[in-house]
Amino acid sequence: MKELVDRIQQDGNVLGEGVLKVDSFVTHQVDPDLMEKMGNRLAEVFADSRITKVVTIEASGIAPALYAAQKLNVPMIFARKAKSLTMDEELLTSSVYSFTKQVTSTISISRKFLNEDDKVLIIDDFLANGQAAKGLIELCQQAGAKIEGVGIIIEKSFQDGRQLLKDMGIRVVSLARIESLVDGRVSFRDADA
Ligand code: 5GP
Repeated sequence: MKELVDRIQQDGNVLGEGVLKVDSFVTHQVDPDLMEKMGNRLAEVFADSRITKVVTIEASGIAPALYAAQKLNVPMIFARKAKSLTMDEELLTSSVYSFTKQVTSTISISRKFLNEDDKVLIIDDFLANGQAAKGLIELCQQAGAKIEGVGIIIEKSFQDGRQLLKDMGIRVVSLARIESLVDGRVSFRDADA
């Protein structure tokens, strides 16, 4: 997606250790116009998949997932990283190792929001080693829901996430694919959408 690539080139910052900082338009401050376009684009790609739920993980997945869900006219569910006192129902849970925070957290979704009739589109802001997506896939599988695909804003193609999901037979659609983050420069490869 050209607009996203241009914005990453203009406002993205390369940190050491292969991390891209996009906190001025995706992960902290959010550009609503660009976010809406990205959510809509992912929704368009999966328009024929009869999606019934969009699933993401807090916090930065929520904005693109919400716009995609609105466009698909279905609910959006975000997995929680901390158990809330109000979550007293049966929970679907899995463990996710965070690439950026370097901690493992338990993520959960209330059982009542996903079932075996659901066809799910998983959305997240970044795809690195695929651990967040894998955790969300496990939650959906526990509910017996079908995963139609994973939609990603920024994929770091030099990490293993896409291959991990491909090996699981999951379709991955990324709006920007980063080939490398070397010497403070972002190099792209062709995106999926
Ligand atoms: P994965 O689970 O695929 O290894 O990493 C994806 C998660 O880690 C995303 O939810 C995102 O929050 C975070 N992440 C991974 N790489 C980056 C990065 O380069 N920049 C930022 N801002 N977040 C990242």
